Amino acid sequence: MMVAKFSDFKRGTAYGTPNIDTVKNHIHFSTRNSLESRLKACKCELCGVEGDGISFEIHHVNKMKNLKGKEQWELAMIARKRKTLVVCKECHKKIYHSS
Ligand SMILES: [Zn+2]
Repeated sequence: MMVAKFSDFKRGTAYGTPNIDTVKNHIHFSTRNSLESRLKACKCELCGVEGDGISFEIHHVNKMKNLKGKEQWELAMIARKRKTLVVCKECHKKIYHSS
C-alpha cells in the first residue's frame, strides 16, 4: 500500500519562480491593448458621442477593399486604415442598415 507524503504534494509547484503564464497573458493583453483602450475611451469613432452610460460596440469588416467609401462609416474606416470601428449602438444600427 502506498502512502502519499505531504512532500509529494508540494513537488512540482512553482513557488518563488516567475509564472510564465502570467507573463504570456501580459504580452497577449498588450497586443490587444489598442482596441481595448479605444473601447475604454468610451467615444464613438463615428459621431463622436462619449460617456459612460452609452454602450459601445465594435464594427468589424473582413477586408478593407470591401468598403465602398459611400457611407460615412466606410470613409471613417478608410481614413483610419482600420478594419475595426468603435461605435455607439445607434451608429452601429445605421451601419447595419446601410451595409
Ligand atoms: Zn455614434
